[in-house]
Amino acid sequence: MNIVKIEKLVKRFDETVAVDRVSLEIREGEIYGLLGPNGAGKSTLINVMCGLLKKNEGSVHIFDKNIDFSMMEIKQDLGIVPQEIALYEDLTAKENVKFFASLYGLKGSVLKEKTAEALEFVGLIDHANKLARTFSGGMKRRLNIACAIAHQPKLIIMDEPTVGIDPQSRNHILNSVKKLNQLGTTVIYTTHYMEEAEFLCSRIGIIDYGKLIAEGTNQELQNLVTDRKTIVVKTSIGKTYDLRELSEIKGVLDANVKDSTVIIETLRETDAVGDIVRFFEKNELPILDIQMKNANLETIFLSLTGRKLRQ
Ligand code: ADP
Ligand code: MG
Repeated sequence: MNIVKIEKLVKRFDETVAVDRVSLEIREGEIYGLLGPNGAGKSTLINVMCGLLKKNEGSVHIFDKNIDFSMMEIKQDLGIVPQEIALYEDLTAKENVKFFASLYGLKGSVLKEKTAEALEFVGLIDHANKLARTFSGGMKRRLNIACAIAHQPKLIIMDEPTVGIDPQSRNHILNSVKKLNQLGTTVIYTTHYMEEAEFLCSRIGIIDYGKLIAEGTNQELQNLVTDRKTIVVKTSIGKTYDLRELSEIKGVLDANVKDSTVIIETLRETDAVGDIVRFFEKNELPILDIQMKNANLETIFLSLTGRKLRQ
């Protein structure tokens, strides 16, 4: 069964076409990633789906029900984690979860039980009686997730839940999403971090300027750009060198450095390896390891749009 079916969806803000004729289907049991840079239209798409914004054209079905007519019914089985944290700062963690869960009709002992379960799930059970106001950004994010899952939705929609939080909370969230999915929840996850999409998602839709420009499993997306090859060189830290010189080698599209690792995107047909090795020798940089890899999502985005994902 399709959990979500979107057809030719359009959402405009004055002249801006934030969602531009997007069609997509999400199947039961998937973690579907919507990957795209800031301003791509991810939140707008999500907000239309959840009934928070009115669309201009097209249709959205969730659980085979049209959002135009059955939003109340759909919401019963929907969990939403919005991009902006929505909590009551002067309520405790437990009171926040209880409040949101009660909106879905949970009552009495079931409410109590599901609230505790949700807090346990996001690792906040030991902080249940603390005010939300006292929480770190990462804890607030996790609490926000607890509020969205306590009623055990069939579909959970998360909008960039790891932006601006500490690595520990981030890992906790990523693992919780995986666990939720393993327990049977279908997930829609928006992000501009390709590593997250790669780690989490069974299928990924790449969105740019409101358009869904590519879609598939990681492997299927890689197959779209078979003309690219990534060369990863490990060297030692501590020496400075000019990456521009590397970018000027014939066949090199882009070069980036992260700690002691240099990541070089090249055209497959132009064999740039020899020149790359010579660059390292010339700069007296030891090559501790060199590997060739197929395209990653960053390269795929670059190849499809001519831009970097995080510009
Ligand atoms: P993303 O979530 O991918 O970062 P958004 O959906 O927030 O992107 O934004 C998509 C586009 O729509 C952007 O150009 C943004 O400026 C515009 N936009 C979003 N919300 C509004 C709004 N309420 N009014 C006007 N323009 C908006
Ligand atoms: Mg957004």
